[in-house]
Amino acid sequence: MLLSLRVFDRETDRLRERAMIVPRELDRLAKELGVHQELLDEQERTLQDLRLERRAAEREVETSKQRRREFEAKQFQIRNNQAYQANLREIETMKQKASQADDRILEIMEQEEEIQKEIDRLQAVVDEERRKHDLAADGLKEELKEVEADLAKIEGERSEVIERLSPPLRSKYERIRKSKGDLAIVGVDGGACGGCGYALPPQRLQEIRRNRALVICEGCGRILVWPEQEHVS
Ligand SMILES: [Zn+2]
Repeated sequence: MLLSLRVFDRETDRLRERAMIVPRELDRLAKELGVHQELLDEQERTLQDLRLERRAAEREVETSKQRRREFEAKQFQIRNNQAYQANLREIETMKQKASQADDRILEIMEQEEEIQKEIDRLQAVVDEERRKHDLAADGLKEELKEVEADLAKIEGERSEVIERLSPPLRSKYERIRKSKGDLAIVGVDGGACGGCGYALPPQRLQEIRRNRALVICEGCGRILVWPEQEHVS
């Protein structure tokens, strides 16, 4: 019974570890995808800012043209030479303002085009990453479901065996398992305890090999079994 427990325990530990690792792997995948998505979002924000800036420049062009027309309309009514010159300068200023804003619009449009290309590239990367992520995540979720089902099954079988142990042995076993956090039952390995490496006296080795009494390792307190028996379940 102890030997079959050993097999169940080993499998339970393996499954529990997997059940812990899978959600972390899912988390890591989601973070990787998030990094690419973040880069894409950043470019989209930049594009948005450029569009706003271009719209402001377009309004600037309209305003400057409008004011220029107003100054031009006034030009014929001015009799005073100084005022006439001042009005001319205003017209010139409005021309320059509109022209500068036009240049800025062209610059922004070029930048927008570059950023749009980068966005298209990043979008393709994100799409591909998402496809890979979804595929891997589906696989991991499926695996987690299987692991949990296996775990429930094995824990059921394991508790059936535990129920059949004598109460003192059961509590001893449970105590060792709890305190060690891993296997409560270990094999002899080259004349020493397979759990802690404690060198076993020949007499103890005899006892374990004969399998007549329960032998506890003096080094780590685990229950010892002879290696050939390990495969029995
Ligand atoms: Zn030991």
